[in-house]
Amino acid sequence: MYSYRTVSVIPELPEAIHRLKELARNLWFSWHPKAELLFCRVDAVLWEEVNHNPVKFLLYVEGEKLQRAAGDPEYLEVYRQVMWDLDRYMQGRTWYQEVYPEQTDQLVAYFSAEFGVHESNPVYSGGLGLLAGDHCKSASDLGVPFVGVGILYKQGYFCQRVNREGWQEARYSFMDFNEMTVTPASQPDGGSVIITVRLPGRDVYVKVWQLQVGRVVIYFLDTDLTQNSREDQLLTSKLYGGDQDTRICQEIILGIGGVKALRKLGISPTAWHINEGHAAFIVLERIRELVEGGLPLSTAREAVRASTIFTTHTPVPAGHDVFNTEMMDRYLGYLYEQIKTDRDGFMALGWDQGRQGFNMTKLALNHAAFTNGVSQLHGEVTKKMFAHLYPAIPLEEIPIYSVTNGVHTETWVAPEMRDLFEKYIDPDWVDNISEPHRWKRVYNIPDGELWETHQNLKGRMIKFVQNNIYRRMDRNFQPLELIRECAGYLSKNVLTIGFARRFATYKRAYLLLKDKDRLDRLVNHPDRPVQIIYAGKAHPADRPGQELIKMINDISVEERFRGKIVFVEDYDINVSRHLLQGVDVWLNTPRRPLEASGTSGQKAAVNGVINCSILDGWWPEVYNGENGFAVGTERDYQNEEVQDREDANALFDLLEQVIVPYYYRRVEGVPREWVRRMKDCLATIPWKFSTERMVKEYTQRFYLKAALRGKAFSADQCRLAGEIQGFKRFLLENWHQVNFRSVQVQQPAVMRENAEIFVQAEISLGPIQPQDVVVEVVYGKVSDHGLDKVVLMPMNLHQAVGESVYQYATSIVLIRGTSGYTLRVRPNNENFVHQFELPLVKWADNL
Ligand SMILES: *Cc1c(COP(=O)(O)O)cnc(C)c1O
Repeated sequence: MYSYRTVSVIPELPEAIHRLKELARNLWFSWHPKAELLFCRVDAVLWEEVNHNPVKFLLYVEGEKLQRAAGDPEYLEVYRQVMWDLDRYMQGRTWYQEVYPEQTDQLVAYFSAEFGVHESNPVYSGGLGLLAGDHCKSASDLGVPFVGVGILYKQGYFCQRVNREGWQEARYSFMDFNEMTVTPASQPDGGSVIITVRLPGRDVYVKVWQLQVGRVVIYFLDTDLTQNSREDQLLTSKLYGGDQDTRICQEIILGIGGVKALRKLGISPTAWHINEGHAAFIVLERIRELVEGGLPLSTAREAVRASTIFTTHTPVPAGHDVFNTEMMDRYLGYLYEQIKTDRDGFMALGWDQGRQGFNMTKLALNHAAFTNGVSQLHGEVTKKMFAHLYPAIPLEEIPIYSVTNGVHTETWVAPEMRDLFEKYIDPDWVDNISEPHRWKRVYNIPDGELWETHQNLKGRMIKFVQNNIYRRMDRNFQPLELIRECAGYLSKNVLTIGFARRFATYKRAYLLLKDKDRLDRLVNHPDRPVQIIYAGKAHPADRPGQELIKMINDISVEERFRGKIVFVEDYDINVSRHLLQGVDVWLNTPRRPLEASGTSGQKAAVNGVINCSILDGWWPEVYNGENGFAVGTERDYQNEEVQDREDANALFDLLEQVIVPYYYRRVEGVPREWVRRMKDCLATIPWKFSTERMVKEYTQRFYLKAALRGKAFSADQCRLAGEIQGFKRFLLENWHQVNFRSVQVQQPAVMRENAEIFVQAEISLGPIQPQDVVVEVVYGKVSDHGLDKVVLMPMNLHQAVGESVYQYATSIVLIRGTSGYTLRVRPNNENFVHQFELPLVKWADNL
């Protein structure tokens, strides 16, 4: 083999449409159908061939076609309109500027191992990446000062081909970044940005690229440089490929390299968001910077913590990355000295006692002022998972929050649905998606019009699926008769269920496939047939996932299921969009409670596609009996087989007895009750499960607080961080001396509503001062698991009654029913972000 240099020449664009080049490098185009039209109309075939990558499109489109477009008045009209929209978008006033005019100098840096912005940038594998992409788009829409940091995987996630036997084949191909929507990032002085990251025995060079997503920039890291050895060039080639060593290298590049890259770019974030544990090494680099500047490690940790936000997505402990001590020594041993500690001190930053290793989630958790799960249910599960870190603290008070995921509405809504919203909700409906009451206007859409729009989308989706199957059969040299047959697969008039997601086994794609005879009766019902479309990739190392794909493909070629159960290959954002805009029912069957949130059902709902889902993730938060269907109940199972059997039965029952009859009940050709459900779904789901709502929530609840805390903590050589650290250490060392000496209660003779109980307690605090604690009554309804709906009432300090013994008192006003109360002491500091920032509490034990 010989070496060569590549050059990409972008053809000159006709002057009248020269800004297409700019449009091609701003992913804003991807959620504006008119902007996409500007490419598609020039050459629709090429546009599909390049999988909607506008940069590649402009490289390969024939000059003649561009000339023709530049001379077409109709085209130019759309062009002018789009450019006007783009300029208005980029320069217009935003929500953030309106609400926080004083905070425009803040900057959130959001680190994620994957970003799923658009199919033209395949550096994502699933929900985590899609969420990150949608997060960036809404941050842009809202004008939140925001940058993303990720990795530019040279091979991306793999392409999926299903072979003749029905097995998935994973194909990796190297992307040419010059043909992609990214551009090399440049320093303030204009030079390209290359940083180095230390790995065992060498420094690895990392190049920084950038992707413009509306107003937001995502910076991507890439080691494919000639300065690096062949192995190091491949470090950033595959997403979730390779072994533990590749994994830790990628995480070091993302975390440590990411911080260095921002510094080199002259970018100074004021809040740092770790999206899943993979990115937690940013903490180490930020600590190192501060220690290098002269701070003690403990103060540096406190300062870093103040401005850090951590979102966890994994409800099973085994899903969190853990590296053993030997690996940590090898890869990061050089840091021990640099952050002025020893091996034990370093390990303590993220030590996982149970798994005996360095846990990325622990590292993040220990250094984030704000930690959250991604749905209410997942927040609860996460609290339980980490309850051992907060002994003696009631579950509901553990400082782990939840922010339920959403989707970027404009990205997922079909253009035809968008038109309906403009017509019946508001011409400017996109300017305020998370506002609920305007969505009520969906009831004004005439049933027939909504149904017809849906049917059109369904027709388009079916063609897309037929093409996908055709291509696969053709490539696999299937007999011609069989290939021709697939043009007749699927019908617009048949109830269509979609199931598309990663084939992780907990998502249970097999649920309907275990009882093939019942499935046969369902899909081949003489009057009310059903068809099911599956799509999804299994990780190349996930054998059970691949067997599942094989199983679906085997079933799909059986005579009785042919053309009724189909598998669409190469699930990506494009496939996802087509399916969830065009099916009737979106099926979701995770093993509860393992789906932390799930988002594809939210995308479906934006298109009036009805969810049929296990009550897991986001679904219990909005399911109301009218706006979709729920499978099974909100119960926990100990036995997976029992759970599978019961859920499968519940799903079949629901389909046979409710969903299918409902769908086929027509009045003048329109399934009125079904359409009613579509409207219920549109009225209740999209506004709430939008990333607009979600990013506002992150901003209001975490970003601004973190930014302001970070600033306060780091002023004056981190004086405040040092003080808080000192305070925490002092309390930890002396807390054992906090004791209830006595508790006295005076009760009224008759316990009436509004009567008062007088409570008095004597408490010894040792060397701790009264202002450093809160003494309070915890009062609530008695329930099976203790006190419920608790109210906290601070007790007043009456007097000192001896050396470091203090008397506190208050009275409790009785409420109706059976209540309980107790007393406790906890730390108090106005700079705590949460009352249990320091997980110390002393409960009265002699009540
Ligand atoms: C939305 C989406 C996902 C995530 O879907 P889940 O419901 O969370 O499984 C994964 N992949 C693609 C391509 C998506 O669009």
